[in-house]
Amino acid sequence: MFRNFKMVSKVVFGRGCASQLGDILNAQRRSSKAVMVFLVDDVFKGGTLESRLPLHADDLMVWVNVDDEPKTSYVDQLTTQVKKHMVGKQDRHPSGVIGIGGGSTMDLAKAVSLMLTNAGSSADYQGWDLIKNPAVYHAAVPTLSGTGAEVSRTTVLTGPKKKLGINSDHTVFDQIVLDPELIAGAPNPQRFYTGMDCYIHCVESLEGTYLNSFSQAYGEKAMDLCREVFLADPEDADDKLMMASFCGGMSIAYSQVGVCHALSYGLSFVFGLHHGIGNSVVFDYLEDFYPQGVREFRQMMDRLGIDLPRNLTAGITDAQMNSMVDVALVLEPLWENALGKDWKTIMTREKIQELYLKM
Ligand code: NAD
Ligand code: ZN
Repeated sequence: MFRNFKMVSKVVFGRGCASQLGDILNAQRRSSKAVMVFLVDDVFKGGTLESRLPLHADDLMVWVNVDDEPKTSYVDQLTTQVKKHMVGKQDRHPSGVIGIGGGSTMDLAKAVSLMLTNAGSSADYQGWDLIKNPAVYHAAVPTLSGTGAEVSRTTVLTGPKKKLGINSDHTVFDQIVLDPELIAGAPNPQRFYTGMDCYIHCVESLEGTYLNSFSQAYGEKAMDLCREVFLADPEDADDKLMMASFCGGMSIAYSQVGVCHALSYGLSFVFGLHHGIGNSVVFDYLEDFYPQGVREFRQMMDRLGIDLPRNLTAGITDAQMNSMVDVALVLEPLWENALGKDWKTIMTREKIQELYLKM
């Protein structure tokens, strides 16, 4: 079966284009009393972005905290907050949910927009195509580039039992606003870690067995852009990084990620590491699988003077190790993409443990 995948419906790109957000949202407001919900990364509290938000009187603005990556419990709490805000309003649902921030905030916006129209807890929908009803209109304004969350059909959530996305066509954003000026303030090492998420998407897509011309076209472009940004520092680095993230996301949409992402999911489930840093920690030990990619990654790291956390798994308990291995092994398509149909003969529990123990 060929993947018949849903793409983001509308995209605006360019320096300063975030100033169009008000007009874009006005076209979606069902009436003068319509409500928009803004979920904004609290790192921007008190900054200039706050005063630029196109808020109407009845809108709801929520500062979201992403010190921890999105949990299903947080999504459920935010959804309840939005539902309470809608009590006594003209419409049952808001006209839209807008996420302004990095991958975590974008994922929260996706998840809340889905949970407003689907009953129960977001934990019930972690998996593939479990969502029944279309989401409320949802839009993203990224402030960090690399995850590709702006174009993907998933929202990655940590639930009581697993770290797994809500994968659905309904998850995909209706609108994305790609303004490179908004990522300009992102400091290193965060900018690097999130950027490396994109670089690793490209390596894993381009070296995977699921590769096809669609993924290759986007993956090669994204990789070239990452090289320019992290090895040459062009003047328009933010524009390029934003487009690298977009293309990297499109590349894996039609292929898959690989060894690094599978191991990184386990690592972040147990240690709470954010996705970008978790991937970077893992990737540094994957020379056997991606020799050229790892060499280039180290060049980029050296150039920016990035020091990765080490010895994370020293003192790990058996239960923690088992849990990490379990989380990694569930991700079968990632292993199959990386190692082929016989991956189970190559990547045993023992081999995974061995790799984790190096980290
Ligand atoms: P993030 O959203 O987790 O944010 C990391 C840190 O950077 C936070 O402290 C945040 O407050 C801060 N930050 C954000 N924008 C900033 C800015 N402009 N200036 C200064 N600080 C800023 O980081 P991320 O790497 O973009 O996203 C990682 C998340 O994305 C994880 O939760 C991961 O699971 C998810 N993810 C989702 C997908 C998907 O397809 N849905 C893909 C990959 C990763
Ligand atoms: Zn990733």
